[in-house]
Amino acid sequence: MAKTKYDHIVVGSGVSGLTAALLLGLNGRSVLLLEKAPNIGGSLARFKLDGVPFDTGFHFTGGFSNGGLLDDMLTVLGLREAIHPVFLEPEHANRFIFEDTGESVEFPSGQPLLTQKLVEDFPAERMAIEQYFQMVDHVRAQTATMDIRHIHRAPEPIDEDFITLQTALDGLTDNARLKAVLGGFSMCYGTPPSEVSFAAHGRMCHGLYESVARVERGGEAFTDAFEDAFSALDIDVACNTEIEECLDLHDRQIGRLRLSSGEEIEFDTCLFTINPHDILRILPEERLSRGFVHRVEAYEASTGFFTLFALGAEDQHADQIVSLFPSTDVNAMLDSESDDESAIVIMRSREKVAGQVRNTVTAFEPCFEKKTAQWADSSLRKRPAEYYDWKAQKTGRMCERIAAAFPETREILKVLDSASPLTFRDYLHSPDGSAYGIKQKVGQFNLIGRLPWRNMFAAGQSALLPGIVGAMMSSFIVVRSLLGRADLNTFIHERLGE
Ligand SMILES: Cc1cc2nc3c(=O)[nH]c(=O)nc-3n(C[C@H](O)[C@H](O)[C@H](O)COP(=O)(O)OP(=O)(O)OC[C@H]3O[C@@H](n4cnc5c(N)ncnc54)[C@H](O)[C@@H]3O)c2cc1C
Repeated sequence: MAKTKYDHIVVGSGVSGLTAALLLGLNGRSVLLLEKAPNIGGSLARFKLDGVPFDTGFHFTGGFSNGGLLDDMLTVLGLREAIHPVFLEPEHANRFIFEDTGESVEFPSGQPLLTQKLVEDFPAERMAIEQYFQMVDHVRAQTATMDIRHIHRAPEPIDEDFITLQTALDGLTDNARLKAVLGGFSMCYGTPPSEVSFAAHGRMCHGLYESVARVERGGEAFTDAFEDAFSALDIDVACNTEIEECLDLHDRQIGRLRLSSGEEIEFDTCLFTINPHDILRILPEERLSRGFVHRVEAYEASTGFFTLFALGAEDQHADQIVSLFPSTDVNAMLDSESDDESAIVIMRSREKVAGQVRNTVTAFEPCFEKKTAQWADSSLRKRPAEYYDWKAQKTGRMCERIAAAFPETREILKVLDSASPLTFRDYLHSPDGSAYGIKQKVGQFNLIGRLPWRNMFAAGQSALLPGIVGAMMSSFIVVRSLLGRADLNTFIHERLGE
């Protein structure tokens, strides 16, 4: 470490930690970014199989359309030029295939097109479809923080925070297939419709309904851009490092941290962007009320994924997200107790490797910790033979389902590797291998902002909304408290050129 005192310590270098560190650094603060893994990036990390790059977490996102939330946040951070979105063709952005009937429903992006297409497919449901999108728009309009120009306003709960997505859908229609399609993007945040609020669903989906994009060079484009920006600022990064002990406890504040490297660092404030269960393990107990501990312990894990990384065939709609649904019951697909087959979400993409185009296929099936609990004590590459047998069996079954939906790919799909929630747990240093941190449950108060120790704060994917947009937003909101509201607001307007 170059110094022994910093203004701010940021714990975790996923997209939330990177965003917080850069915002603070750009505003003249000294920052130490602590990362437990050997490299920065968390779920943004890319890796290669047979020389072909694949993504760990981040694959696609909304928010890139002009004036979209992600577009604005990247502009404020000065990274917009370094990140090149590849928009999925609006007409073919998403497709749901119901395996029980073979029925296929196109789900374009761009709300007018999307409404029109759904009304064509469900002509008797025009009113329900229009009302649904009006409700999503209402949530967007009522949520001040969905526009970073208003980030100085506290996020306030609205009526839709207190009803579940399922209740809202049941109130609109009896058509099970339409409800499955409208609730289908719950795979993008990992909480079932019967447990998530309509507001959280609307905030997550609004950007994805506008446009869907992947990014050239995936998450690596983000980590490279952040690293470049850090080099001109007072930001130090310490990988392979975590907090070992909190020291100098007085006046409800923590004065110093002892790190796993043995160094002791003084700081003004510390921002955690890691899982709330891990924050609880680090904070000294004496200031934590029983109510607080209870609240955090009660947070449940969002879904994890069993994931296949494969090479596939050339396809004119390669950049399309296809969801295979075994039935219309989305709740069952995200039920941690269910033993039935779940959905498979298939992302196809193209990567240029040594001048050659390789068609990649990444397929995700929701999978909870319970399914791998018997091997929980094992570590990467040192798991028992039964675990690898289970993986091989699961891989085979997923391939069968993909081949049944796309018979032309049967001979072509070449699986290079697979990952279970245990793999994600160990690579991402998360307690449970979930894809999106904690479940976003209706009526739940997440850990965001100041913690019971007054100079300790929480942000990250579990704080507000998951996905890269939600994770970055949480850092904008919490950094507002660290910099002062007026200062961050002026900075945002200046950077947006307003
Ligand atoms: C399989 C999968 C698919 C996904 N697909 C998409 C998608 O297509 N689009 C999308 O927007 N989102 C997707 N997500 C979710 C998205 O990747 C996350 O919501 C987001 O990237 C989380 O960012 P974060 O910074 O909050 O957390 P993370 O990226 O998890 O970063 C947390 C970091 O903290 C580090 N850490 C943990 N504990 C400690 C500690 N004690 N000390 C120091 N460091 C620590 C970890 O090593 C990690 O680097 C997906 C996630 C997964 C797993």
